[in-house]
Amino acid sequence: VVHLQFRVSTNPKARSSFTLTPQRMRMIVEAFKDTLELGLAKPDQVVLCHVSLRPCRFITNAVPMIPTFVFGFPTGQEQGDYLAVDLGGTNLRVCLVYVQGEGKFEITQTKYRLTEEQKQDDGQKLFDFCAECLKTFIDNNLEADHRLNPGETLPLGFTFSYPCFQTKIDHGELIRWTKGFGVTNTEGRDVAEMFRKSLAKYELPVTLTALINDTTGTLIASHYVNPKTKIACIFGTGCNAAYMEHVVDIPKIKNLGIDDTADMAINCEWGAFDSFDHEHLPRTKYDTIVDETSNKPGEQAFEKLISGRYLGEILRLVICELIDEGVLFLGQNTYKLENPYVFDTAFLSLMESDPTDELLMIIGIFSHFFAVETTLAERQFFRALAKLIGRRAARLSACGIAAIVSKMGYLEEGCAVGADGSLYNKYPGFADRIHEGLVDIFGEKGRNIVTYHAEDGSGVGSAIIAAMTKARR
Ligand code: ADP
Repeated sequence: VVHLQFRVSTNPKARSSFTLTPQRMRMIVEAFKDTLELGLAKPDQVVLCHVSLRPCRFITNAVPMIPTFVFGFPTGQEQGDYLAVDLGGTNLRVCLVYVQGEGKFEITQTKYRLTEEQKQDDGQKLFDFCAECLKTFIDNNLEADHRLNPGETLPLGFTFSYPCFQTKIDHGELIRWTKGFGVTNTEGRDVAEMFRKSLAKYELPVTLTALINDTTGTLIASHYVNPKTKIACIFGTGCNAAYMEHVVDIPKIKNLGIDDTADMAINCEWGAFDSFDHEHLPRTKYDTIVDETSNKPGEQAFEKLISGRYLGEILRLVICELIDEGVLFLGQNTYKLENPYVFDTAFLSLMESDPTDELLMIIGIFSHFFAVETTLAERQFFRALAKLIGRRAARLSACGIAAIVSKMGYLEEGCAVGADGSLYNKYPGFADRIHEGLVDIFGEKGRNIVTYHAEDGSGVGSAIIAAMTKARR
């Protein structure tokens, strides 16, 4: 253990890159704040997308700060039945939300898993699959108690958790895929229009009224339930945040003639922070490998240090290096560990929460999934490594939250931050580590900022935004 620990935690070079001092965090927050401002000011550029070679809005060095055309928070009095389709990084969720007003709602939902092939296949086929799942859901859930009159349709909110350029609430041009998606014929196109085509193909009795991002949905749903909520974050396959901005402080949309006194939700797409120039975030050589071997090298630099898609891979790369150096698993067949992305971030959760002295859970993970035997010293090392990687992810997340808090002046009064995603919900101590990080950044006042689990945020938010949109029309 001493030998292994030395390599990652005692070696000053390795330690300085996996751990973050409060001072370093405050520097990141300052740079993050500047990047947020830049994203609000800088008009989008249209260039050729390097994958599809179509003209595409592509912002290279700034966080996109996408205006969502969701104006202000809900009143809490919205009501009615709404459908929501939520295309995430791992699952497709279809929900029927009965919005009851006074912060209350009921939800029925079904999850459909996306295959790796679907994530790389043709775009229209992906939307056809979404429509097909919606049809199955409607057939199973709607007929009994929500019979529609001929010609009548239900409003549908579409939660599409990839950066889109919007000029209206019900349109959005995909800027680029993130979270490992490489679906073809979609970047640079209006995904709402593509989904409408699929909805028409299946003759579904729905009207797509709002295209939103999961973070925006979570922001609106969390505020509906808890009006102290000012920021929402997602920590799942990817990571992202949204908050409510004053229109007057969004210089890049000043020509659209939007009422200056209004507020509009901003989808930060903060996973792009520090992309390409890599000036601000400390990265280990494992992070560099993750980046260079990803399908989008250079992009989503912040996300690659934080989100569920990558944390397991970072740990696996450290293990593989030690295998190559003959330090680990000598004489054992390690081929199963040598496949990229086989080490799920859920394993890090399990490793950190193993309650036994012998670390039986870790024995189980390595023998069952990877057919290798481990010593106690190795298991203690793996756990320590998971802790470094998980803690770094949470502390970097705190930096992002702190940047928004500081930019908007929320620190004195305090605010709640609605958070969702498996990493936030299931990784032991993730929220506590964020809170610790906020205190490291802001001192005692950091305790005024409290994150909480925003349940079903993206689906419910989509429904509430569909309701708000209906009210505005
Ligand atoms: P999505 O972001 O795709 O909508 P999730 O919020 O469920 O969906 O996030 C999925 C990601 O969370 C995957 O990258 C997975 O590795 C990770 N994950 C799943 N379970 C856990 C867990 N128990 N602990 C930590 N991460 C997890």
